[in-house]
Amino acid sequence: MCNMNTDENSLGAVGVVGAGAMGSGIAQVAAQAGHQVYLVDAIEGAAQQATGRLTSTLAKLAEKGKLSRADAEATAGRIHAVAQVQDLPPCTLVIEAIREVLADKLALFTALAQHQPTGTILATNTSSLDITEIAEPVTDPGRVVGLHFFNPAAVMKLVEVIAAEKSDPAVLDRVAELARTWGKTPVRCTSTPGFIVNRVARPFYGEAQRLVEGGHCDAATADWALRHLAGFRMGPMELTDLIGHDVNYAVGESVWKQTGKDPRYEPTLIQRTMVQAGDLGRKSGRGFFTYDADGKPTDAEADEALARRLVGGPIETDPDVDIAMQFGTNYPRGPIQWGREIGFKRVDTWLRTLDAAYPGGRYRPSPALLDGTIS
Ligand code: NAD
Repeated sequence: MCNMNTDENSLGAVGVVGAGAMGSGIAQVAAQAGHQVYLVDAIEGAAQQATGRLTSTLAKLAEKGKLSRADAEATAGRIHAVAQVQDLPPCTLVIEAIREVLADKLALFTALAQHQPTGTILATNTSSLDITEIAEPVTDPGRVVGLHFFNPAAVMKLVEVIAAEKSDPAVLDRVAELARTWGKTPVRCTSTPGFIVNRVARPFYGEAQRLVEGGHCDAATADWALRHLAGFRMGPMELTDLIGHDVNYAVGESVWKQTGKDPRYEPTLIQRTMVQAGDLGRKSGRGFFTYDADGKPTDAEADEALARRLVGGPIETDPDVDIAMQFGTNYPRGPIQWGREIGFKRVDTWLRTLDAAYPGGRYRPSPALLDGTIS
């Protein structure tokens, strides 16, 4: 069992490997919570640059009055760039946030297991890989867990605490407790494809994309319907344009393959074509929409009357699923709460109708609906 030190006066050091979008945000969160944070990246100078950017981010937060100038300076002073994984000091927790390539993660966990004390908890921020597999090179895999933050990590409240096959339950408890002390809302799950959020969210993207692919409406109309008639903060088209279609497609394909190519999660042709064409969303200037130099869409005009006709009425367990979707993706309601509001009997009837119209299993009612596990 690991000795995670939770004593407020002697917070342990936290290592963060990968100084990209997620690693930087996670480093900020841990430093704001009072830890000494050691950031490392494979690209020379990248951790140093990320540390510099975090110092300006914290200074801006102080200018906006979100934290005191003294706190901003002290927090920045707790973030240290180190050159390589071997240079990390002994940490209570190391969080991996490198690129989503299994071979790279395996090599990194091999190195971490060699260079960190046996008591160090090793966490991965993977979005879609199996954590049991990532833990394989570690001789004592009880200390390996998933700790999945959402983008931007400093802002989004949700953290999925993911149990791999051999994760020690005490380690999972400690990590969840730590996430709470960092101001996050942890939810617990096991290492299944997509965990909670990326599994539940797939059809939100895929079904909207199929509407457009099938010529039923354009992207702006699908977004408008989901924002204005269903209460989502962002539509699936503008959201995937923001995430980047390369990233979103890769996660979707991974979930689909890991579920044995369940048709419910099948990636869409329209998104694959966009990736192949380099229309990756905002970052390439074009995705479902075309973006100007300020990142504003120039062609997002919705057909509101069509949206109303398509929706036709208000759209609207396990409470962790509801919490996860509300805090992780800003859904207006969780799927279970939503189903309850509509009535699971009606949901069941709709799904059967759709299943008959579009056979192949995409709309099959879930066993939990059939056997009354959720009602
Ligand atoms: P990113 O490309 O912004 O950053 C990855 C960083 O890791 C880069 O700076 C790269 O140089 C570095 N790196 C790559 N291999 C390395 C290695 N072997 N050792 C040290 N550094 C290495 O990627 P990101 O968006 O921050 O994603 C990182 C991880 O977090 C991925 O596993 C991703 O699936 C996951 N994630 C991403 C998001 C998101 O929305 N971007 C959300 C949740 C989880």
